Amino acid sequence: NWEVQASVKGPEEVRRLALTLNELSRELKKQEDWRHHLMEDLTHELRTPLTSMLSQLEAMIDGIYEVDLEWLQQIYDELIRLTRLMNDMEKLSEAEAARFTIHIRRINMVQLTQNVYRNFQQMARSKGVKLQFVPTNAPCYAEVDRDKMIQIISNIVSNAIKYTNEGGKVTLGVDWTTDSTIIYCKDTGIGISEADLPYVFNRLYRVDKSRSRFSGGVGLGLSIVKALVEAHEGEIEVTSELGHGSSFTVTIPNVYKSLEQQLA
Ligand code: ADP
Repeated sequence: NWEVQASVKGPEEVRRLALTLNELSRELKKQEDWRHHLMEDLTHELRTPLTSMLSQLEAMIDGIYEVDLEWLQQIYDELIRLTRLMNDMEKLSEAEAARFTIHIRRINMVQLTQNVYRNFQQMARSKGVKLQFVPTNAPCYAEVDRDKMIQIISNIVSNAIKYTNEGGKVTLGVDWTTDSTIIYCKDTGIGISEADLPYVFNRLYRVDKSRSRFSGGVGLGLSIVKALVEAHEGEIEVTSELGHGSSFTVTIPNVYKSLEQQLA
C-alpha cells in the first residue's frame, strides 16, 4: 500500500512500527489469557452454589423435603449474590476494556476528590465513622477519564468506611509531585493481614469469605479499581496492619502517554 510506504521514512521508523506491532500483539495475547482465566473463575464461582440450589429445589419438588420458607429465603439470598456477581463481572470486563476506551480530559483532581468525599459523608456518618478530606494548597490537574477516576476513588473510600468500625476515622487526601497526582485513603479499620495483603487486588478475593458472603462484597471491587488505575498508566499500592487500619495510594501520571509515545 503506497500510503503506508509514503509514511515510512527510514529504518528508524520501521523499527518503531515493528515495536508497536509487537507491543500490540503482546497486549492481545494478554487480553486473551485474561478472558480465559475469567471464564475459569466464573465457572468455579457459579458451579457450587448452583448445584446446591438445584438439589435443594429438587428435593422440595419431589416431596422429600417440605417447602420451607427459611430455605427459600436462603436460595433467594444466594441468587441475589450471584446476580451481584454477574453485575460486577460485567464492570470488571468493562474496566479491562477501558484501556482502549478511556476519554482523557484535563481535570482538577482536588475538586474531583472533594466531590467524592462529599458523596460519602452521609454513609460515614450513619456508620459513626469520621470522614476527613485533606486537599493540597493549590489546584492540581491531571489528564484522566473523569467518570473512571470517580469510580476508582469511590470504591476505595467505600471499602475504607465498610471495613472501619464505629468511632474510627477515614482520611481521604490529594497530593502531587512534579509529574504525578497522588490520591490516598487511610483508615483506622480492621486492617488486612500480611498473608492476605498480596491478594486483595485479585478478582474474587475476599479476606473473610463467610462475612462478605451476605454483606455485599463479592471481591471484585479492588480488581476493577486496579484495572482502571492501570488504564491511566497509574499505580496502586496498599499497606496495612491487622487490627490497626489500611492505607491505599493511587499514583496517576499528570500526562497520559499513548502507546506510540511510550515507544518513541
Ligand atoms: P469486596 O467487594 O469483598 O469488598 P474488594 O475487591 O473491594 O471486595 O476487596 C477485597 C477484599 O479486601 C475485601 O473482601 C476485604 O476483605 C479487603 N479490604 C478491602 N479494602 C479494605 C480496607 N480498607 N480495610 C480492610 N480490608 C479491606
